[in-house]
Amino acid sequence: MMIVMKKDATTSQVANVTARIEQMGCQAHISQGEERTIIGIVGNGRPLDHVLIEGLDGVEKTMPILKPFKRASREFHPQDTVVTTNGVTIGGRQLVVIAGPCAVESLDQMLEIAHAVKEQGAQLLRGGAFKPRTSPYSFQGLGEEGLRILGKVRQDTGLGVVTEVMDPEMVPLVTTYADVLQVGARNMQNFALLHAIGKAHRPVLLKRGMMSTMEELLMAAEYVLSHGNDRIILCERGIRTFETYTRNTLDIAAVPLLKQLSHLPVIVDPSHGTGKWELVEPVSRAAIAAGADGLIVEVHTHPEAALSDGAQSLKPDRFATMMQNLGRIAEAVGRTL
Ligand code: PEP
Ligand code: MN
Repeated sequence: MMIVMKKDATTSQVANVTARIEQMGCQAHISQGEERTIIGIVGNGRPLDHVLIEGLDGVEKTMPILKPFKRASREFHPQDTVVTTNGVTIGGRQLVVIAGPCAVESLDQMLEIAHAVKEQGAQLLRGGAFKPRTSPYSFQGLGEEGLRILGKVRQDTGLGVVTEVMDPEMVPLVTTYADVLQVGARNMQNFALLHAIGKAHRPVLLKRGMMSTMEELLMAAEYVLSHGNDRIILCERGIRTFETYTRNTLDIAAVPLLKQLSHLPVIVDPSHGTGKWELVEPVSRAAIAAGADGLIVEVHTHPEAALSDGAQSLKPDRFATMMQNLGRIAEAVGRTL
């Protein structure tokens, strides 16, 4: 349920309503808008007495939240959520570009790529130390050694690190090195992982599962939010369809739709969304034009020798060209890159 306070409601009336809600065993979440205050309530399973609540001083009306996702919904939190990490804001006017290789392969590889993407304006570095591979015989990532490499590169470049965690038990370890914990598409409904990440109170990059609906993605976000962690960045990375020329089918409509349904920032992964480096720039342009808050892009200095996802990785010079071209799109939609 949502409580809409009157325009002239006082701070003490808001405090009184909040206290009454908490006495009922519910949680209250205050959203201070320009015109009025809205109080979102997460219930305890029992029906709430809306007549009683509407009788409290300063309350204008109550409204049910009909969607199954509550804290993730726009109604619950009308203003955009802006996630801040390592001095970078995600979800504001400034777009974020997260770039780096699919997997951490060596210290030299990471340093070379990190410096190259930083020079072109990437604000965060990506790189997987734990890789969720389809085949158990494919490169699985360097594990903890990969995390240590990311830590060194972070120190050397100042770039915040985005890296995947696949197992709830690994959350404390990965949190030691990562600025943003990535939940991969294959783990979007790993509920034990979502609970562990919710408790970690660290920004989360939550990727859409390859066979997941918008609602399932937002319900996954709700798991993290239910622990009070609202530093979530949603990521559209394509879904599986009958098309085979692309690795996945990037759902561009997901961007404006998620922005309508939720207050959480939304970014796009054009690399996994297409599987082909030639498609990365055009799809990135479309993502920014559609209102995405940023991109996560795979970049590799030697894609032909990459241990994973070389075919969809941009070389640094192509990344540089893309960044220049994206600046113009960003400007056209009132954003900065
Ligand atoms: C990745 O970002 O390297 C990755 C494995 O992505 P996804 O989970 O979207 O497939
Ligand atoms: Mn990859």
